[in-house]
Amino acid sequence: MSLHSHLERAYQITHRYNPFRAEVGLFPIGSPTPDSPVFVSGNFDTLVTDLRRTLSPFDCWLLICDSAGINVWCAAGVGDFNENKITDALIASHLEEKVRHRTLILSPLAAVGINRRKLKKDTGFTVVWGPTHLDDIPAFIKAGLQRTPEMKLARFTFKDRLEQSIGILGVFSFPLLVFYWWPRQVAWFMLSLSHAIFGTMLGYDRLPPKFPANKTLLLGAAQALLVLAAGLTGRTDRKTTLQRLALGLLAHGLIAIDMIGSTPFYKTTIAHWLTTGTNTSLFQPAITPRCPSCGACLEVCPKGLFERDTDKKVRVNLAKECCECLACVKQCPHHAIINIGTGYKDDIKSLDPDHMPQLRPQKPT
Ligand code: SF4
Ligand code: SF4
Repeated sequence: MSLHSHLERAYQITHRYNPFRAEVGLFPIGSPTPDSPVFVSGNFDTLVTDLRRTLSPFDCWLLICDSAGINVWCAAGVGDFNENKITDALIASHLEEKVRHRTLILSPLAAVGINRRKLKKDTGFTVVWGPTHLDDIPAFIKAGLQRTPEMKLARFTFKDRLEQSIGILGVFSFPLLVFYWWPRQVAWFMLSLSHAIFGTMLGYDRLPPKFPANKTLLLGAAQALLVLAAGLTGRTDRKTTLQRLALGLLAHGLIAIDMIGSTPFYKTTIAHWLTTGTNTSLFQPAITPRCPSCGACLEVCPKGLFERDTDKKVRVNLAKECCECLACVKQCPHHAIINIGTGYKDDIKSLDPDHMPQLRPQKPT
C-alpha cells in the first residue's frame, strides 16, 4: 500500500460513520473465466479495499453495487442495498455475457435487504450466502464454496473492534472544536471517552458484566473512584475533582447509550436497558406450524438461533441471543416466523409491509 492509501484508510477509519463511495461495477480479480465465482458487495470503500485484498490470490469476479457508500449490513437494513441495486449492477455490467453460471455470492449480513425471489425473477441470478466475515472467504473458496457452521455467524474480531473504537472516537471528537478555550477540560473529556470506548471494545471478553453498556458503566465507576481518591488525598483541588467527575461520567454515559444500539453485540432500546439493565433484543423469534423446515432462516441468522432437530425440523434456540437483524423474517418464504418478545426496535426499514404482522408481539403457542 502506498503512503496515500495508508492515509486515506486512516481517514476513513476515523470517519467510518460517513459514507465513502467506492467505484461501482464489475471487476476481474486475477484471471477469471466464465466459470469463476462472482462475489457481490456494496460500495463502502474500506470494505471494498479489504475485499479486493482478500480475493486477490483467487480468480473470480467482484460485482460492486451502489450501497450509498455504507457497509452492507447497515445499508441492507435501511433499504440502501437491495435486489434492485444488484439488478442495476447486473444490467450495467453485462455479467450474464461474462459468466456461464447464474450464481451470486453475498454476505448473509445483506439478507435483511435482499428479496432473493424477486432478484431471481428479474435477472435469472440466484443468491447463495457466503461467509459472514471477510477473513473466512479464503477458506470458503478453498472448500469449494462451502461454509462451515461457524462461517455463518457474525464475528467481531479484535481488529474489527479496534477499528470501530477509533470510528466511535471520531464521531465523539466534536469537543476538540473548543479545545483552544477550554483545553484541560476537553483533554479530560477526550481521555474519558477513550477510556470508555477502548475499554469496552477491547476489554469486551474480560470485563465482568455481560452487556456492553453495563461494561462501559463499570469503567465509568472505576474512573470516578480514582478521581475521588485523587480529590480526597489532596492530589487534585475540589474544583478539578468535580469537573473531572462530571466530565468522566458524561463521557461514559454517552458511550453506554451508544453501546445499546451496537448490533454486532446486542441491540435494544434505551428504555429497555434502563428498565431491565440488559441489552437483550425486544424481538424474540418463534416458528409457527406454517413452517415446512426449508432452512432459509438457518442460512442467514448471524447469531445461530435456528437449528435442525434430529427429525430435521427447524426450531429456535432462544438460549442464543437474537440481535434483531430481522434477516430471518425477510428470508422466510412462508411468513412462519413470529415475534414472541415484547416489541421491536423499528430501525430496520427493508422489510415488506406484509412482514409487519409478524413483528407485532404475539403470545407463544
Ligand atoms: S433470530 Fe434474531 S439474529 Fe437471527 S436472523 Fe432472526 S432477527 Fe436476526
Ligand atoms: S425460513 Fe421460515 S419456513 Fe423456512 S425453516 Fe425458517 S421458519 Fe421455517
